[in-house]
Amino acid sequence: MTPQPTQQIPGVYRRKIGDIVVTAISDGYLDGDLNVMRNVDLEKAHQLLREAFRPARRTSVNAFLIHSKGRMAIVDTGSGNYLLPTAGILQRNLAAAGIDPKSIDTVLLTHMHPDHSAGLTDMSTGERLFQNAELVIHENEPAHWFDDGAMAKADERSRKLYFLAGREQVTPYKDRTRLFRQGEVFPGVTAVPSLGHTPGHTAFLVASGNDQLMIWGDTVHVPEVQTAFPEAGMAFDTDLAAAAASRKRMFDRVCADGILIAGMHLHFPAFSRLARRGDAYALCSEAWIHDLDAI
Ligand SMILES: [Zn+2]
Repeated sequence: MTPQPTQQIPGVYRRKIGDIVVTAISDGYLDGDLNVMRNVDLEKAHQLLREAFRPARRTSVNAFLIHSKGRMAIVDTGSGNYLLPTAGILQRNLAAAGIDPKSIDTVLLTHMHPDHSAGLTDMSTGERLFQNAELVIHENEPAHWFDDGAMAKADERSRKLYFLAGREQVTPYKDRTRLFRQGEVFPGVTAVPSLGHTPGHTAFLVASGNDQLMIWGDTVHVPEVQTAFPEAGMAFDTDLAAAAASRKRMFDRVCADGILIAGMHLHFPAFSRLARRGDAYALCSEAWIHDLDAI
């Protein structure tokens, strides 16, 4: 008898952007309900999920490795052990991809939320999980999440999961943090601030030769719903209106230019394009390719 496989293969997928290689690494996924959505008719949102055969609000959590000019960066770090056991497998998938975290010299953070920054540090030892990396983040992020006044106004869940979790994860990188406002932050990678979801939420544009990839961070959390209703936001958007305006701007930009996109919450491995459908949009996943030099 040939035994049946009992485990999934590693969540790793590569895409070449000019001379740069971007590798999607899965941290797993998070299931939840739609009650955290704002500015959308929840019955319509449920209907969209049903029509897409989604049993729940299933949220992929992705990070992206960037090999460029002999250096290696990772964009976001997954959720560590802060959220659900269905996520937090970034390190396992990095190992499966043959990547030693010590060889990553830069961690680019889209923002300080636990599904992005909680994989920075092992809190049982206090050790940085990316021992040799510089942490690179928009200046508004630590300014907000380390602001005691802002924390005092937050509810208990936000205080714990956003403010305190962010602080304890980022602090071990204190002497190796580089803040930016905009501009090139890593060879071939330009910061595209897309503020609103959090005060310093940033997308990263990877460009080489004629190729471009917009790693758009948390432009969407529920792709099926927010491409249909771009004004729909999340309860945990720091500024709902600004987040919606940034989302619409990003949608317009990647649609107009036909830019390849990837996102932290697009269904793994995330590489897609966005098409306009009347007033709404639709995501078109890119087909799988095994040859990195084929586009
Ligand atoms: Zn997120």
